[in-house]
Amino acid sequence: MWHHGVVMSKPPPHWPITSALPGIRFPTLPIQRGQGVLAVLQQIEQSQWLAPERLLALQFSQLDALLEHARATVPAYRQMPRDARAVLDYEQFRRWPMLTRRDLQNRFDEFVSKAPPRQHGKVQERRTSGSTGAPVRLLTTALAGLYWNAFNLRDHLWHRHDLSTKLAVVRRETEPGHAANWGPATFGVVDTGPTVSNSIRVDAAALIDWLVVERPGYLLTYPSLVAELARLSIDRGVRLDGLREVRTFAESLHPELRQLVREAWGVPLTDVYSATETGYLALQCPQHDHYHVQSEGVLLEVLRDDGQPCAVGEVGRVVVTSLHNFAMPLIRYDIGDFAELGAPCSCGRGLPVLERIHGRVRNTLVTADGKRFWPIFGTRAIMESAPLAQYQFVQKSHTLIEARVVATTQLTAAQESRFCERVSSMLPAAMEIRIVYVESIARSAGGKYEEFLSEIAR
Ligand SMILES: [Zn+2]
Repeated sequence: MWHHGVVMSKPPPHWPITSALPGIRFPTLPIQRGQGVLAVLQQIEQSQWLAPERLLALQFSQLDALLEHARATVPAYRQMPRDARAVLDYEQFRRWPMLTRRDLQNRFDEFVSKAPPRQHGKVQERRTSGSTGAPVRLLTTALAGLYWNAFNLRDHLWHRHDLSTKLAVVRRETEPGHAANWGPATFGVVDTGPTVSNSIRVDAAALIDWLVVERPGYLLTYPSLVAELARLSIDRGVRLDGLREVRTFAESLHPELRQLVREAWGVPLTDVYSATETGYLALQCPQHDHYHVQSEGVLLEVLRDDGQPCAVGEVGRVVVTSLHNFAMPLIRYDIGDFAELGAPCSCGRGLPVLERIHGRVRNTLVTADGKRFWPIFGTRAIMESAPLAQYQFVQKSHTLIEARVVATTQLTAAQESRFCERVSSMLPAAMEIRIVYVESIARSAGGKYEEFLSEIAR
């Protein structure tokens, strides 16, 4: 469309902002928290297009304020020296020690601010699911929650979600039920359709029946469950009318899954990289399959083993600083994931790119010479090799992989050897595969289903 000689891209979707004031129908003002969310959203809508250096300068200005607050009010950081240089830079920032989950578990009190700003609102406690062992507990503020909601709205905006449709959610915390709106990010801010939810303990066939009846516009759940539902839909010839997009989170996304979802339901899949401790870390680019770091909310480093920043194309440890949580500042927090740093994106956004988010340390295959791999098995190749309902690979030693399989019928010797061959071809070195037949494969305590687990990775 031409408008005053300028090429206009498709306008953003019109969102009806919930009116909190009597007699006011257009343009409206939402509740106070909603006004805050929209004010942040409006700014990050602009800042996403800034040049990387400009974005970095804004981030460091916010970071400087956070570090000053940490020095003044957080016992663990009392001794951190103040640099003489006027403007904080990365060289100075890198002198701050890294923080681990274990630090938060063992030295909780030392990381709590003795004086979070009153204006940042109520201090709340969050807990991670504990899928990696003991849960991590942390404190955060109402303000940090407001930023979390603004990034959630950005995700809706980027992917042009039609908020008037029904949202279906299946996650660890949810039980069968329904709500009148899409949840905390939109409640009182934007008028939405309803949410229906279900539990991950419900079996896949029953979930498909439920989705057929509910006809949601969007399905939000774990990648592993999407894979199960998509395969079952294809087998049973079930289409999900009205479905526009599948949204995933919480597990490392298998690249093959996007194609499987297209095949099953004819819709795209978008993935989100977030964590309980920090909120949104990266959102999928509206035009590509890779992710943009949410730099307005977090400073995200991808680091080599020696602590140096990774170059484009390298895989490293994800280390995160939350820029707005003044109740318990997470500074250089090693979140336990590995990611591949990507090249700047052709969409024009200045936000850094993560090409792929690999699993956690426990999902890493380690060879005898210390090299790390994140094996991708490819559901199709595996499923075609033998009649399997489910599988999981567990590294027992540097040379042995245990293949736990749930078989629909007993595998023949030929099927077993074809299966082992397929699996071997996806592994880095000559590794022995040992098949172990099991009744079922459970999800972890956090509700995640892990295709690959290492018992020797640290
Ligand atoms: Zn992009």
